[in-house]
Amino acid sequence: MESDSEEVAVGANVNSYDGPLPYNYEPPRQERGQAELRGRVNGQRREIELWCEENRWRIGQVSWCLCGRCEAMPSAVESVCCREVDAYWSLVQTLDPPEDITCLTLHPGFEASCLNPFVLQIAYMNFRQEHGSLQASRPEQFRYTAYRQVVRWAYGILGRNIRKAIPSCVVSAIRRQFAEEGQTYKGFQWPRLEDD
Ligand SMILES: [Zn+2]
Ligand SMILES: [Zn+2]
Repeated sequence: MESDSEEVAVGANVNSYDGPLPYNYEPPRQERGQAELRGRVNGQRREIELWCEENRWRIGQVSWCLCGRCEAMPSAVESVCCREVDAYWSLVQTLDPPEDITCLTLHPGFEASCLNPFVLQIAYMNFRQEHGSLQASRPEQFRYTAYRQVVRWAYGILGRNIRKAIPSCVVSAIRRQFAEEGQTYKGFQWPRLEDD
């Protein structure tokens, strides 16, 4: 956000809780695999693995949650709170006028950009034009698009191979909104993403 340069964005907001992104559907671009980028990605991967090893205690419980809205996750990398990651929490801190919000999922921009099915429909069309259709169920297409939206919102421009963790509260809110058929929102008709 501060910069449109990939170099800067990659190194921005790095802290010890910056884990990987479990929802990286971005197709890898082999032609961009320069030695430097490869080295950076490998370095990041090692860092993430180390972090996960040290944070196994987070798995399956939420004592690490500071926002009150995270849910227990099956892996350490997913067990991160919105208030632990600068890139996410700064979105709340920089709200103007400031609002007394305890979790990023309560930020007005979250619902507008990550839960609104019409916004996601447009975002998905952008993705589809660039990468082609996503072979997935409709709820999964929505969830996936919502994850991309929140990462874009928090980090701005990221290198294609750079993965970022999505806080558990955010993932949980998106999963609730776009649950698989038969679970929730039965009466609600999502707009079509595909010509199906
Ligand atoms: Zn939390
Ligand atoms: Zn939160």
